[in-house]
Amino acid sequence: MNLNELTGHEINKLLARKEVSAIEVTEAVLKRIGKMDDRINAYVTVRSEEALREAEEIDKKIQRGEMGSPLMGIPIAIKDNICTRGVKTTCSSKILHNFQPPYDATVVAKLRKAGVIFIGKTNMDEFAMGSSTENSAFGSTHNPWNLNAVPGGSSGGSAAAVAAGETIFALGSDTGGSIRQPAGFCGVTGMKPTYGLVSRYGLVAFASSLDQIGPITRDIRDTAILMNLICGHDPKDSTSLNVPVPDYTQALVNDIKGLKIGIPKEYFGEGIELEVREAIEKAIEALKKLGANVKETSLPHTEYGVAIYYLIATAEASSNLARYDGVRYGYRTKSERRKAKGEMVQMYEDTRREGFGDEVKRRIMLGTYGLSAGYYDAYYLKAQKVRTLVREDFDKAFKDFHCLLTPTSSTPPFRIGEKIDDPLKMYLSDIFTISANLAGLPAISIPCGFTKGGLPIGLQLMAKPLNEEMLLRVAYTFEQNTDHHLRKPVLDADKKIATDDH
Ligand code: GLN
Repeated sequence: MNLNELTGHEINKLLARKEVSAIEVTEAVLKRIGKMDDRINAYVTVRSEEALREAEEIDKKIQRGEMGSPLMGIPIAIKDNICTRGVKTTCSSKILHNFQPPYDATVVAKLRKAGVIFIGKTNMDEFAMGSSTENSAFGSTHNPWNLNAVPGGSSGGSAAAVAAGETIFALGSDTGGSIRQPAGFCGVTGMKPTYGLVSRYGLVAFASSLDQIGPITRDIRDTAILMNLICGHDPKDSTSLNVPVPDYTQALVNDIKGLKIGIPKEYFGEGIELEVREAIEKAIEALKKLGANVKETSLPHTEYGVAIYYLIATAEASSNLARYDGVRYGYRTKSERRKAKGEMVQMYEDTRREGFGDEVKRRIMLGTYGLSAGYYDAYYLKAQKVRTLVREDFDKAFKDFHCLLTPTSSTPPFRIGEKIDDPLKMYLSDIFTISANLAGLPAISIPCGFTKGGLPIGLQLMAKPLNEEMLLRVAYTFEQNTDHHLRKPVLDADKKIATDDH
């Protein structure tokens, strides 16, 4: 087994026993990136020299017997909307193509302190708006399981990098599914924590009432270990929850006997592809055999999820993205028109027209429309009211169930280009992940099978706020009794890459 294909906890053991060095692990990951990333395009920035220097320092510490955190010396990839001091943070947008934050996001500062090695920044849909990583100013990311398929989005770079062995684990962000959907599409594990559990300080804001940072990993133990480090109260984020953070590794018990798992019937209607349905049904059978008590339930307001998400998220985005005007940082137009007209406003307009991609412009316009006088009550306010109904559906369901189980997505990974000209179709690909963000719930996607064409299928679990431990327990038990997470894409440079249709 190559070092770059191991999990974080496996590497931790090898490092502690001094059987490998942090440099060797970092080199293995960098070598893999060198070999693969011209085809996968998971990274926007790779920090080869700096990462090796960091690894050298870590090795010295380990030699001195200063092995602190379980994450020490392990390479991580960070989505390019999470601020890293002195390292470009572009949000895969032309408007931030040269932006070097003067500070670290809280999660990055925590990881730095724990001695994690920062390999690089990963590609994404521009400002996290999208479900395929095709909306990037730096080109699409390709799915390691089939290079003609999308890796999902918006954290497609992070998920593809984990799946392709181009990092050990990664951080993504999830506003409507952007950790879970790409994790599902790439056959890895992705968790969106409860809203407020992980600090958003230094996460470039898309829709502030929905955004959360979370881990993308090769197994559940790594998810728990990363959660232990990134969760916790942060006075720099006013929405950060001031609650104790448990040791999530304690939730990794291989036992779900007697747990009640609900299957919301609205998630199994029309539009779900047969192979997805079959994989989920098999997973349900497996969980039943392991002792879970599985029953159908209902979340009646599910059908409004996509509509209200695209009002609330765009409204918040239109406000958050007002700051990109070419004045303080980022891209500024070269156009001379403002001089001719003598107008500052012309500079803003030209900068934004040239700096933002089409999807971002579409969102800003939708959001501005939904918030405008005369439409506010009918759209934005109404959406907020329905959001409450969605949350109440969950409150009710969690009176009867420990967790809920659904597919992560209604389809397997689709082809690059398939939905890019049809925004509505693209928006519908988040139909199963959006509700957890609207209700602020924790949710996880884990691999649960493959299509006949060899593409991964993801299973989603949701629990009540701050019950991440329940998700980890069920996911861990499933993982211990199945082997979907162990399968790896065949992607060696010397082997022929699968390019046929799926
Ligand atoms: N795909 C959804 C969107 O385009 C969700 C994105 C996300 O979670 N950042 O808004």
